[in-house]
Amino acid sequence: MRAAIFDALAREDKPASAYDIADSVSRARGKRVAPNSVYRILDLFVSSNLATRVESANAYIANAHPGCLHDCIFLVCKTCGEAKHVDDDALTGNVRKRAANEGFVADRPVIEVLGTCARCAA
Ligand SMILES: [Zn+2]
Ligand SMILES: [Zn+2]
Repeated sequence: MRAAIFDALAREDKPASAYDIADSVSRARGKRVAPNSVYRILDLFVSSNLATRVESANAYIANAHPGCLHDCIFLVCKTCGEAKHVDDDALTGNVRKRAANEGFVADRPVIEVLGTCARCAA
């Protein structure tokens, strides 16, 4: 079940919701998979760094670099839904530092830029 869900997520080129993944796994297996159990497994992938949540899209994307811990930044296209993943450890490190200066204990900074991708803007 986990492998089927991960395969479905890895095949998506855009952030996918638990419902999208439940649909594609249900189709592939020929039997209905409940979005609730997909949701639980996706959260498990996030906590083990195999997937990242794109908060503004309420969706998930397979982690491009599961071996390293970045605070991923996503550029989310409002036209085609693509989420381009960029890393900038200096920038996210500054956000963490700023939070720490306030005595704030950060879990993770969520930095998502909403707009139009280069392809859709052309
Ligand atoms: Zn990243
Ligand atoms: Zn686009």
